[in-house]
Amino acid sequence: MPELPEVELVVRELKKDVPGQTIQSVDISDVVTESKARGREAIIKGRAVDDFIESMRGRTISALERKSKYIYFTLDDGEQLLVNHLGMTGAWFVVDSVESITEEKYRKHAHAIFHLEDGRQLIYSDIRRFGELRLLQEESDYPPLLKLAPEPFDERAEQYFIEQAASDRWKEKPIKTVIMDGTVVSGCGNIYATEALFRRRIHPNRTTSRISEAEQRALFREIVTILQESIDRGGSTISDYQRGNGETGEMQHFHQMYKKKTCPVCLRPTRSMSINNRTSTYCPSCQK
Ligand SMILES: [Zn+2]
Repeated sequence: MPELPEVELVVRELKKDVPGQTIQSVDISDVVTESKARGREAIIKGRAVDDFIESMRGRTISALERKSKYIYFTLDDGEQLLVNHLGMTGAWFVVDSVESITEEKYRKHAHAIFHLEDGRQLIYSDIRRFGELRLLQEESDYPPLLKLAPEPFDERAEQYFIEQAASDRWKEKPIKTVIMDGTVVSGCGNIYATEALFRRRIHPNRTTSRISEAEQRALFREIVTILQESIDRGGSTISDYQRGNGETGEMQHFHQMYKKKTCPVCLRPTRSMSINNRTSTYCPSCQK
């Protein structure tokens, strides 16, 4: 599943081609259209397929940005907003046609095709279809967006995290649950949470209130450091998530604990437990 660094890299890639382009027409795959007709909210959220196609036609993509793990396409200088979440396996392509997508699985699962004025196509592919495309008048039309924690690189993010972690909602929860919640820390998923906890030698199931404020601050800074390292290394390319353009990141070579069988520090076997339905790997000797 893409986390903040992987989404950031997608946005940087799209920024090269997409801003300033007008969408001439939109095709939505039969799979999505049929699924929506059966009452399921496949990819196109909150409106009918016909409405989505009609509303996107003629819109100019003015700007692109990442917010947490979401991609914001500003349309017509802010008149509307297309918000995308990549889910587990979403990927974007700017190509001449679907046939130009090199990997078959992405060709086969091209679900939204935006025909651009320069003749190219902006294509959203999603193998498992957990991704989202949400056309909004403004951010507040989808309230969860307003609840996202500040960007981790913002100055106020650390203090925000400390306050959230001390709140009644979170203080008795396992620390890993807390740092993976997008309303507490933006963009930190299972990989980077696992790695940051290992680097700080904190057991993922430790109750948040039993971690000192100094340790919490150090943990937060570790998360920020790891997210930045991962952006610099092109993100993590793992079986669940690859970049659509076929490029591979390098961060997976620097994972020390995520999915590891042996602790790189004490060389003892690692263990795994389920926290919030996610597998958490940790070293029982090094992490307390
Ligand atoms: Zn160890």
